[in-house]
Formats: sequence, C-alpha cells, structure tokens
Amino acid sequence: MRFDTIVRNGTVVTATDTYRSDIGIANGRITAIAQSLPVEGASKWIDAAGMLVMPGGIDVHTHLDMPFGGTTSADDFESGTIAAAFGGTTTLIDFAIQQKGQSLRQALETWMKKADRKAAIDYAFHCIITDLGDAQLEEMGALIAEGVSSFKLFMAYPGVLMVDDATIFRAMSEAAKYGGLICMHAENGGAIDVIVRRALAEGKRAPKYHALTRPTTAEGEATSRALALAEMAGSPVYIVHLSCNDALEKVREARDRGLPAYAETCPQYLFLSLEKMDAPGFEGAKYVFTPPLREKWHQDKLWQGLAHDALQVVSTDHCPFCFKEQKELGKDDFTKIPNGGPGIEHRLSLVYTGGVHGGRFSPNRFVQLVATAPAKLFGLFPRKGTIAIGSDADLIVLDPNREQVISASTHHMRVDYSMFEGMRVKGVPICVLLRGTTILEGGKFVGKPGNGEFVRRQRYNRV
Ligand SMILES: [Zn+2]
Repeated sequence: MRFDTIVRNGTVVTATDTYRSDIGIANGRITAIAQSLPVEGASKWIDAAGMLVMPGGIDVHTHLDMPFGGTTSADDFESGTIAAAFGGTTTLIDFAIQQKGQSLRQALETWMKKADRKAAIDYAFHCIITDLGDAQLEEMGALIAEGVSSFKLFMAYPGVLMVDDATIFRAMSEAAKYGGLICMHAENGGAIDVIVRRALAEGKRAPKYHALTRPTTAEGEATSRALALAEMAGSPVYIVHLSCNDALEKVREARDRGLPAYAETCPQYLFLSLEKMDAPGFEGAKYVFTPPLREKWHQDKLWQGLAHDALQVVSTDHCPFCFKEQKELGKDDFTKIPNGGPGIEHRLSLVYTGGVHGGRFSPNRFVQLVATAPAKLFGLFPRKGTIAIGSDADLIVLDPNREQVISASTHHMRVDYSMFEGMRVKGVPICVLLRGTTILEGGKFVGKPGNGEFVRRQRYNRV
C-alpha cells in the first residue's frame, strides 16, 4: 500500500470515537486507518504523538467580500480562507446574495467569481433569497440538485433583505420537496425598526443603542414564528446565529416535540456580553453585529444548549469591518455602523477552551459541533466532517495544551481589531491538511490561494 502522507501516533478524535491510530492518505483521501502503518510506504509523514487528530473544521456561516451599508467586508476569499486555515477550518459555506429581480443563479455566479482562484480552503454557498417570484421558486429544486442545498431568508432588515411570512412559507415548502434546508435570520425586523427610529428621534446615536434597540424578545418571537412556519410546511429549519435564551427555549421546545429544528450559535455570544457596548467613545462599534451582544447570563444557557443538543453547531458569522474608516461610517449614527465582526480564525480554539477545558463537554462533542453536525446538515458528510476511509483528508492536528493569546497584532484576518483581544485560549491547531495537502505547519500558512475547491453538496441530513 502506497501513501502520499501518513499522520502517525496521534489520538484520533471523531464525533463518536477516540483511539490511537495512524492515518494513511492517498490522492487526497483517507485510505487507511490502522494502529501502525509502514512509514517506508509514504512520501511524507507527520508525527502527531501527544496530539489530537480531528476532522477539519467546517464554518457554515461566513461573509467574505460582502457589500453592506456602502462598504465591503474586509476579508476577501483569499485573506479570509487563509485566516480560517490558521484556525483549523478547512471548509466554509458563505452566502450568495440575490439582488431583487435577479435569478438565484445570477447570485451564485457572482459569488463563484469572488471565490475563484482565491480560496485557500474548500467552500460552498448558501443562497440568500430576497425576492421569490415563480421563476426563482422553480430554480430552488434545480439548485439543490446542483449542490446548493440550502437557502437563507431574513426576518430582519425591512426594505433591504427582509421577506414576509408568505415568502418564507413558500420557500420552506419548496425546499422540503427537494431535500433542501432553510436557514433563518430570526429577529422581528418590523418592531426593531420602530424601536430604532424612536431611539434616533430621542438623540440616542451611540453604538450601544444598536444592542439596546434589538431586544431578545424580538429574536424569540421570530424564532418561534420560523419554527411554526417550518412545522406547517413540513420542512426542516436552521436558525442562524442564535444569541439568547428566549430563542433557545423555542428551539428546544420544538426539538422536544420531535421537529427537525436546528440552531447554531457563535463564539461572540458565548464569550462576550452587553457590557462591551459601554466601552469609551466609539469603541463599542467593534461589537456592532446582529443579533447584538446580550446580558452575560445568556452565555451559560448557550453553553448548556451546546452540551445538551438544543444547539447543534458553532459557526462564526465572520463579517469583518475595520474600525478605522469602515466602522467609523457610523460615528454619529449607530444605524450607519456596518454590522459584523471578525471571527473566522479563532472558532475552534475558543470552543475547545470554553467547552472542553471548561469542563462542559467532551472532545467528541467539540468535533460534532465544529465539523460533523455542520457537514451532515449541509450535505457535506461523509466526504467531510469525519475521519473515515474514503473521506477527504481534511485533518487537523490539535495540541490540546498549547496556549495562545488572541490579538489583532498577530491574527491573520485583514481587520484592524479583534473582538477577543487579549483572551488566552488553550487548544490550538498546529498542522492542517486540506485533501491531503499540508496547508499549515510550523506556524506558517503553506497552502495556496486558489487551491480551495467549490464543493457540490448533497441534500440535508438529520442530525
Ligand atoms: Zn450572517
């Protein structure tokens, strides 16, 4: 048996198992898993003694090169995917946004061009629907068959991205027919808009009012409505960036009733809280994203949700805007601050630190949350999201005891601040393989922009 690479002596951790094993890789795939493989048969070997070998991370919520509020997110598909690789993420799913009047296919083509020859890790797209006429409705089945098996709809941002309940219901019914999955941004945009206008009329213009005008009840209400619409349509539903207990309880209740309801949260909601908005001057703008930061007590609820499967996935909602010049667009008016924060690089280390070292769940649950569940829900499994014969050799070697201090001065995202500045994490990927090719080792990115491939996804699978 010939191998291109053997990963030796590591402890393999999947969503279900932990065992000592070597992994043999040929032609980009895992071709052998055995207690001991002969190194003479390999062109290269990686020593993983004392380390954990896990499937590469899958981040199903990123916004690279995305126009928003008169500017564009600071990472493109090159800088963003390189930063992702540093953090152990080997596949991401970004969003192709349909402009009103466009076909869904046009949206997809626009985003395919943005990623082409730039992406350093594998990628796929969800399609954001903003305008669902009969023609676009018909496209949904075809897109699912071609590997774009999920769509995102907004219940917030009226006049820009928001769609009404009828549109959501039609999209869910159509997706259900073909095995697609609908992702929902769940906030009551109508009510929030009224609250925002009132705040502005009262002269409340500082960054913290972004958070104070988006109550948790608005997220709870929309989550509940999304779940009800999905139940009526007989379709699964996936709530994106769930931030608070109000919404979590709705998802848990739906799941307890056996409904195919899923939700993700993001590191910012697990580690940061509303006090960040009180930072002096305009600093709070660094934490202007949607949904906003919540009171600290929600964090424990979210961690419990991750541990007990009320939440299935941790993604990042990576949508970076520089503090200088970009966030500053809203210096005199919080509604003009581009919404989003940088996170693509540190997801795995943060979740490993808080989850595994924090004593909240096992390394296996960690793998489930950052790789296996996202792969299953979004049609990437078993090609990605696990370590098995025939799977892509997307692997990370993680040093569970290595520590790192997160800082904008050392991170690789193209943005001038970090939401987690000064935070110490423990558990860092030290070697990353994409389809068998080493893309990170010795603290250096050794992959190549353009080597990331577009992945045609299968249909949604229950987890
Ligand atoms: Zn987002």
